[in-house]
Amino acid sequence: MAIIIDGKKIANDLCKKLSQKINILKVEHNIFPCLKVILVGSNPASQVYVRNKQKKAESVGINSETVVFSDNLSEDELIEKISELNKERFVHGILVQLPLPNHISASRVINTVSVEKDVDGFHDENVGRLVKGERNCLIPCTPKGSLDLIKLVESNLSGKNAVVIGRSNIVGKPMFHLLLQENCTVTILHSQSKDLAEYCSKADIVVAAVGKPNFVQKNWIKEGAIVIDVGINSVNIGGKPKLVGDVDFDGVKEKVKAITPVPGGVGPMTIAFLMINTVIAACLQGKVDAYDFVSSGL
Ligand code: NAD
Repeated sequence: MAIIIDGKKIANDLCKKLSQKINILKVEHNIFPCLKVILVGSNPASQVYVRNKQKKAESVGINSETVVFSDNLSEDELIEKISELNKERFVHGILVQLPLPNHISASRVINTVSVEKDVDGFHDENVGRLVKGERNCLIPCTPKGSLDLIKLVESNLSGKNAVVIGRSNIVGKPMFHLLLQENCTVTILHSQSKDLAEYCSKADIVVAAVGKPNFVQKNWIKEGAIVIDVGINSVNIGGKPKLVGDVDFDGVKEKVKAITPVPGGVGPMTIAFLMINTVIAACLQGKVDAYDFVSSGL
């Protein structure tokens, strides 16, 4: 019987422990972690994501505020706002909700957020630090949360074959580097890859981040593999909208060691790791050793 990885419970447990750490930061270091979320426009999915982030931040004891701008905000105005927040001593984390409207360069905006406040881990310098395997850098939340789930099932990943499907900057590429740091042999598959089933059939770990419902099939997957489904796809089943992942969950779960469901797998871990990154950012700015402070006891 496969382990159905309960990301919701694992994320809640992480957040409870994090909340205790935040109390220590407040009482012993006089640091009150603060996250500012910037939302440009009125994309309904983004509004939901931002609301969930803010609610979770409040529940763990992080001060959080969402700054909402209309669609017609100019790129320069957004850059100016971020530059102001960079200078605010009491703001530790800045998150710009993506996607941005087409007239704004996401890359320029992301690289305007100060490296130490970049809780999404998308700034070029944080990306470089991740690639080099440096300590104390801010790592993108979804891959970091996914790795945490894998390591709860299997603590030593050294020598394992891992396949990541998807090469986005947000999920696929950072996931590749995190698994490489765990000494996995990692293959990354993408839209131009051939023979996906063959690569997957040799993998001890498969991470799917494609954005296509039921893309990964049962006959691709090796017996006893760990399968992490990052995908979130809205499909219509019997006239009702339903969220599904990238993996044929019902088929694949019959032969794997462990699998994440959608919803309730990677999604809650992404938010939990945003909270953790905000605390790491607060530690970095408050000159508290972030690595020791956050990693011990979580
Ligand atoms: P993206 O669209 O930026 O990237 C998709 C990747 O899939 C691309 O790199 C592309 O090369 C690859 N791909 C497309 N067709 C393919 C094919 N036929 N074969 C192999 N690879 C193919 O998407 P993303 O931002 O990386 O997100 C991927 C999925 O994960 C989406 O469903 C998204 O909603 C979801 N997501 C979930 C979370 C979470 O918290 N659970 C966070 C981020 C993204």
